[in-house]
Amino acid sequence: MSVTNERIFLSPPHLGEEERKLLLDAFASNWIAPLGEHVDAFEQEIAERVGARGAVALSSGTAGLHLALRLLGAGPTDTVFCSTLTFVASVNPVLYVGATPVLIDSEPQTWNMSPAALERALQEAAAQNRLPKAVIVVHLYGQSAGMEPINRLCARYEVPVIEDAAEALGATYRGKACGTWGRFGVYSFNGNKIITTSGGGMLVSDDLAALEKARSWAAQAREPVPYYQHSELGYNYRLSNLLAAVGRGQLRVLAERVAARRAIFQRYQAALAKLPGISPMPESADGVSTRWLSVFTIDEAVCGCNAEAVITALALANIEARRVWKPMHQQPLYRECRYYPHDDTLSVSDRLFAQGICLPSGSSLTEAQQTRVIAAVAECLGLKQEGGSHALL
Ligand SMILES: *Cc1c(COP(=O)(O)O)cnc(C)c1O
Repeated sequence: MSVTNERIFLSPPHLGEEERKLLLDAFASNWIAPLGEHVDAFEQEIAERVGARGAVALSSGTAGLHLALRLLGAGPTDTVFCSTLTFVASVNPVLYVGATPVLIDSEPQTWNMSPAALERALQEAAAQNRLPKAVIVVHLYGQSAGMEPINRLCARYEVPVIEDAAEALGATYRGKACGTWGRFGVYSFNGNKIITTSGGGMLVSDDLAALEKARSWAAQAREPVPYYQHSELGYNYRLSNLLAAVGRGQLRVLAERVAARRAIFQRYQAALAKLPGISPMPESADGVSTRWLSVFTIDEAVCGCNAEAVITALALANIEARRVWKPMHQQPLYRECRYYPHDDTLSVSDRLFAQGICLPSGSSLTEAQQTRVIAAVAECLGLKQEGGSHALL
C-alpha cells in the first residue's frame, strides 16, 4: 500500500520530548505507584492554568464526574439535569449514584445546553418541589456552553453546576476557562483528548474542603491513622505518578495543541465552505473553542447524501470520521428519561445527530493528510451532485 493511503485517525495521541523526559524522570525515581510528586505538581499546574483554587488528579474524567455528584450529595431519590448531546460518560455517573437523569436539549448557537429548555425544566421541577441535585453542563467538542445564562438560571433555583469540560481544556468563555464557571469542573486526559496521559482526569474547584474529600474518596477513603481504617466508601480513582508526569509534559504544549486544532478547523472550513449543504459547527462569540474535533453538518436535501454516506466514503479512503454523539434521549439506556427539547417544535440535538460528521482533527495531522480528507469529502459530495465530476476541487 502506498504511503499516501496511510490510515488517518480521528484524534490520535500527540506526544513529544517534554513528556518523554518527565516520564523517564518519574521512572528513574522508582516512584511509579499512585501518587508522588508529579501528581502533586500536575494538580497544581492544572489549577494554575485554568484559574481554579485546587485540583485532584484522577484515573479518568468519568471518575471526576462521579466524585462531583457524590460531593453534592446526589443519591437515589434525586434527579440530575444533563446535556443530552454528549458522550455517555457525562450521564453514566448519575446512575452510579442511583439518581435519575433528566435530559436537556442543545441550543442552535453553541450546540450545548439550551438555556430555554433548562429554564422550562427548572420551572417544572420547582413547581413539583423536585429541583435537581445538580446540573451537568457539557462543553461539546471544546466549545463553551452559554455559562452566563445557565449559571444565572441555576443560581435562581440554587442548583449547583458541574461542568463536563472533558473536551474543553484550553477553551474559554468570556475570557475565563471552561471548567471554572460551575461548582466543579472536570477534564479528561483520555487518549483521544486534546492532551492525554493515555487515561486520566482532573476535578477542579474553588472549594478546597470538597476537593480534600474527593482526594480521600479517590484513594479508598483510607483514614490518616497508622493502620487501615475506613469509615466511608471510597474508590480506586487516583492517577499514577507516571501518568501525571506525561500529563505535565502535555500541559506545557497545550496552547500549541489547541492552536493546531483550530488551524485544522480553519483549513477545513476554507475548503469545504465552497460545497453547498455543508456547514461548520458555529463558534459562539462568547468563547474560544478548542475545536477538539472539526465538526460539520451535511444537509442531505442539498448534498444528495447524508452523514453516514460521507463517513463510509471516507472509510474507503482509509480515513476515520465519526458521527456526532447520539443524544442520550435516543439511547436504549436512557430512553425512559424525561427530555426537554429546545422548544416545542425543535429538537436541536436530533438534527445535529442526523446531520453531523466529525473529521480527523488530531493536532499532529499534516497538511498533506488534511488535503486528502478534504479531497475525499469533496469527491463524495461532488460525485453525488455532478455525476462523477470533480469540479468542486
Ligand atoms: C471523554 C469524555 C468523558 C470521559 O472522560 P474519560 O476520561 O474517558 O473518563 C466525559 N465526557 C465527555 C464529553 C467526554 O468527551
